[in-house]
Amino acid sequence: MTTTAAPNHDSGCPQCGSHDRRALFQLATDRVVRCEPCGLTYAVSPPVEAAELYNGGYFSGCADEGGYQNYQAEYRSHSETFHRRLVDSERKLGGKGRLLDYGCAYGHLGRVAVRDGWEVVATDIAYEAVHRAVHQHGLAGFVSDLSRPPLKKGVFDLVALYDVIEHVREPKGVIRSLRNLLSERGLLHVTTPDVGSASAFLLGSKWYHYKPREHLLYFGRSSLRRLLESCGMRVDEMRSAPSRMAVRDILARLRRYSDRGARSLLAIARFLGLDGVVVKVHIGEMQAWARSDAPMGRFPGGARLAPASVPSAGSRAGSPVSRLLAVLACPGCGGDLRADAGETRLACVACDEVYEVRDRVPILLPKAAPANKAAG
Ligand SMILES: [Zn+2]
Ligand SMILES: [Zn+2]
Repeated sequence: MTTTAAPNHDSGCPQCGSHDRRALFQLATDRVVRCEPCGLTYAVSPPVEAAELYNGGYFSGCADEGGYQNYQAEYRSHSETFHRRLVDSERKLGGKGRLLDYGCAYGHLGRVAVRDGWEVVATDIAYEAVHRAVHQHGLAGFVSDLSRPPLKKGVFDLVALYDVIEHVREPKGVIRSLRNLLSERGLLHVTTPDVGSASAFLLGSKWYHYKPREHLLYFGRSSLRRLLESCGMRVDEMRSAPSRMAVRDILARLRRYSDRGARSLLAIARFLGLDGVVVKVHIGEMQAWARSDAPMGRFPGGARLAPASVPSAGSRAGSPVSRLLAVLACPGCGGDLRADAGETRLACVACDEVYEVRDRVPILLPKAAPANKAAG
């Protein structure tokens, strides 16, 4: 057993806090380790500003490294994947409702969900991505830092956390906050790479879900269950999460294993006119649906919004900003927010803090405390 010493910036296992861990392998700047007491696989990674990593280039192949080749071009296959996930969630919920897309990227899930009849609220840390979700897909969206959602409690029937939890440094904080957002019947739906999947086993350290700097946590089924349960959630179901992908996108991903082989296969697929065909693939991801242990009631201020008395957050009527006001809360104090006449700023009615609305996208990042605010 190799137990590695913890560098200064490293606070140990994000699940159990232990520093007792086995080094698995080095991945560029990251050391991938497995926690001995709880079994979580995670990366010991130098700190990086999330806003710096997840900028506009992250989704368009312009990032220095990592990111997505061209997220927008994959809309068609995304929409099929998302539609099927929504159908599964609807069956569990017993109907549609209000959906929070937490880590929405360009808003592809939201667009599909609106088409399918859900009310949608979308958020991400990347302004460029949310801007596109709002302006291209007509969603009600805002920028947040994803660790403390500036949202009212108890107002979402479904929270989608797709390919997000593996990126965060404090997963318990995120899951606990999201649990508080759920309505009485609400469901959290999580997808993330499964480090116990066949592809992870076969590819070892070359597994395509190992991404230095971006992916910090590598869950298996038992560690994901442990995370959810330690945050007051009950797992409804956990299983493999298939995706729909175009043949050309599958082959593009295989280029990292054999560039020549993948290019030859792509040429053949093009010749046969099959490169754009969308097929169901298991890419080593899993999904879990979970409910709160103590839904509603326990949370002060968690009363369900009366649907008749508030503007529908995801309906197409009204400006995107006014549609959001029913569910937003001040990132600093949790108070209600009010928009000015031109909807260029949101002000908290409780603490008076003001937040910018940039081109119809509210920027709801917590304000850094003033360095030396004079008392009184
Ligand atoms: Zn641990
Ligand atoms: Zn406030």
